[in-house]
Amino acid sequence: MSVVTINTEADTAGIKDLIKAQRNYFSTGVTKDIAFRKQQMNKLKKLIEENEDRIVEALHKDLRKHEFEAYATEVGFVLVDLKKAISNVGKWAKPRKVGTPLFQFKAKSYVKPDPYGVTLVIAPWNYPFQLLFAPVVGAMSAGNTVVLKPSELAPHTSKLAAELINNNFDPEYMVVVEGGIPESQALLAERFDYIFFTGGTAVGKIVYQAAAKHLTPVTLELGGKSPCIIDKDTHLKYTAKRIVWGKFVNAGQTCIAPDYILVDRKIKDKVIEKFKHYIKSFYGDDPQQSEYLPRIINERHFDRLKSYLSEGNIISGGRTDRDDLYIEPTLIDGMSLDSPIMQEEIFGPILPIIAYDKLSDAINMINGKSKPLALYMFSKNNKKINRVLEETTAGGACINDTLMHIANPELPFGGVGDSGIGAYHGESSFELFSHLKSVLHRSFLIDDPVRYAPYKLGRGTIKKIMDWTL
Ligand code: NAD
Repeated sequence: MSVVTINTEADTAGIKDLIKAQRNYFSTGVTKDIAFRKQQMNKLKKLIEENEDRIVEALHKDLRKHEFEAYATEVGFVLVDLKKAISNVGKWAKPRKVGTPLFQFKAKSYVKPDPYGVTLVIAPWNYPFQLLFAPVVGAMSAGNTVVLKPSELAPHTSKLAAELINNNFDPEYMVVVEGGIPESQALLAERFDYIFFTGGTAVGKIVYQAAAKHLTPVTLELGGKSPCIIDKDTHLKYTAKRIVWGKFVNAGQTCIAPDYILVDRKIKDKVIEKFKHYIKSFYGDDPQQSEYLPRIINERHFDRLKSYLSEGNIISGGRTDRDDLYIEPTLIDGMSLDSPIMQEEIFGPILPIIAYDKLSDAINMINGKSKPLALYMFSKNNKKINRVLEETTAGGACINDTLMHIANPELPFGGVGDSGIGAYHGESSFELFSHLKSVLHRSFLIDDPVRYAPYKLGRGTIKKIMDWTL
């Protein structure tokens, strides 16, 4: 592999050079080779494994993540995807044979996955390692080159990603461009062959507009308010435990965290008691002292979250410390449905609880808002579960648990409507970063004269032939 010197600083000229070099490199066809893809993915895997401690440390510095959480939700998550891609890329990349109508005799038809070319991955700060590298696994397995733009709001992870990638990979193939909005916009001004963006809905629209200028296909992994319904007929203990975990992991800064609870009024008090119990059992009497509760990413988000605390009645929690970017896991009720906390994505450790009398009220409330990224329902009643799944829409759904649907690589993960476009993980990541090229390969054996002018058949006959050969 030839190594060229590229200016990875985010000046426009540097970025133009970078993309041009990647385009030239892609056009050599090297990245299409399956052995090359496996070799590069193995290299990335080794690099991650060798630098596991440094990655965990960077995540602690950026978000004060506990090492268990850092490994389970970030490092380990990416390694699982990488290992799966390394083992399966040969199979995934094979042409897929499909049928051919009889009137096309003699021919064969297949769908051939082609890499798009030069791709861009833009990541957010909340899972700054996972959400940067999980899409990259898809881009690499599909045979593309990649430009990675980590989030400037998780500077330690961003710096480490840049060091690991830029010191070990040929920039013509894979490169990290660090920076914030100006760098992101300088990248978006250029023509890529595919853009994968994870972040907020507002920025997602900016990315979509920038991509439209070049007709570049996109995946937009966005956010939103993910509802969580609790039916009266549920396993109270597991329900509360799983919700408290899913809400407060990463201090609620998870795109698919349950944003608000819709609980059958008959069990609201019991659910609240159990929530309080598990918050205490996970994080102790004073969660600020717990090593398991991460911190809010910065002052701006701290101030935004703190302002929500005055919008209802605090049932439990509510303590804050700006110097420590700490917000206590908080349960809240009595807020107006028009208040900002019920209009905006919360993205922090505050859980609003709303009681409903009829399941249809909960369904109507969900349907009155933008389509969420995730929908949760806790119930032992399959009829009610099916009704909710049938009558609502969401990027994905998880029944009787929270977040765990993201941990099954067989389930494509993505949003719908305001929560995003496209889905990835496991084989879906490969598919997403591949153009599925349809190929019809005809034989020279025979050449049916029917289709050529002057036409010998009338409409009735061709109609019969086409119906018959379907
Ligand atoms: P963000 O949209 O502010 O930033 C994401 C990335 O876009 C960053 O790299 C940033 O530098 C860049 N960016 C920011 N403003 C930009 C602009 N004006 N022009 C071009 N680029 C810009 O998101 P965030 O605050 O980092 O992350 C939080 C959001 O991401 C939440 O809404 C959350 O729900 C969502 N999210 C979604 C998923 C998912 O998988 N669907 C995962 C994590 C986070």
